[in-house]
Amino acid sequence: MKISDIGEFGLIERLKDILKSSIIGDDTAPVIVEGKALLLTCDILVQDRHFKLNYPPSAIGWKAISVNVSDVVANGGTPLYSLVSLTLPDMEVGFVEGLYHGIKKACEFYGCEVVGGNVSKGEKLSIDVFMLGKAERFVGRSGAKRGDGIFVSGTLGDSRAGLELLLMEKGHYEDFELKLIEKHIRPTARIDLPKHISKYANASMDISDGLASDAWKLARASKVKLSLFSEKIPVSKELAVFCKKHGKNPLEYALSGGEDYELLFTHKPEKLNPFLSMVQIGIVEEGEVVCLDNVLLEPSGFDHFRML
Ligand SMILES: [Mg+2]
Repeated sequence: MKISDIGEFGLIERLKDILKSSIIGDDTAPVIVEGKALLLTCDILVQDRHFKLNYPPSAIGWKAISVNVSDVVANGGTPLYSLVSLTLPDMEVGFVEGLYHGIKKACEFYGCEVVGGNVSKGEKLSIDVFMLGKAERFVGRSGAKRGDGIFVSGTLGDSRAGLELLLMEKGHYEDFELKLIEKHIRPTARIDLPKHISKYANASMDISDGLASDAWKLARASKVKLSLFSEKIPVSKELAVFCKKHGKNPLEYALSGGEDYELLFTHKPEKLNPFLSMVQIGIVEEGEVVCLDNVLLEPSGFDHFRML
C-alpha cells in the first residue's frame, strides 16, 4: 500500500493510531507545563510543492513563519518562540540570507523570536518551522455547540487564484493580480483575532486546506452539523474580477482553494465583533455533516498525496 492509496489524512490517522496521544488533533498541541497552557506546532514548506526558487526568498521566509503563527492564533494563542530547520542543496548564500530576512521581518510583525535551528544538506530546499505559543484559554476544533454562529475571517480563495496567476508566468501583471499573488506568496496570519477567539469561541481552526475540507474536520471533531450559506462566504473584489475574466466561479475558489490561512470558528452569534475582520457564514446544528445551502457539501480540498 502506498500513501497515495490512503491519502495524507488516511496516513495521519494511522500514525495517530500508533502514537495514541489524547492531545493530537488540533492545529496546535496544547500541553500543560506547570499549570500554564503552551501550544506547540510545526509546519514545513517544501520547494516545488509550496514554493518555487524563483519566488522572493524573503517571501518564502515570511510564509514559513506565518503558516505556523496561523495555527497558534487559530487556537486562541499568541506566538512566542520558534526553531527553524533547513534542508538545502549547495545554493547561493544570499538566497538563504534573504530567506532569513523574511523570517526576521515576520517575527517582528508577529512578536515572536527564532531561538535556534538546524541545517542539513539535501536535494531540495525545505524549511521546517517549530513554534511555541501560549494561550489564556485553548480553543480547539471539538467544542462547537448547537446554535453557535459559524464565522470566518478575511476573504477566501485569493491564494489559489494567486498561485494560478503565478503559474501563468505572464510578463506583466495587473494590480489586482499582484494583490492575489501577494496573498499566495506572503500570507499574513490573523494576529488580530486570538483574543477574540480565546474569549468567545467554542471551536476554532485555521483554513489551510480549503473551507470545504476544513469545515468537515471541525464538524467531525465537534460532532455537529455545519450549515453554511453560499451568499455569506466572503470573497475579495480581486478574486471576483479574476473569476469574471477567466470564466470561473469564485465560490469554488473560496470552498476548495486552500492556503488561505484565515480562521474558521464558532460562538454565540451575538458575540460578532463588527470591528474585527469576521463574517458569519452559517449556523451550527445537530448532526455530523457539512451542508451548503441545505445540500450536502463534498469535502473537496488539498491532500498532499492525492493532487498535483
Ligand atoms: Mg492548521
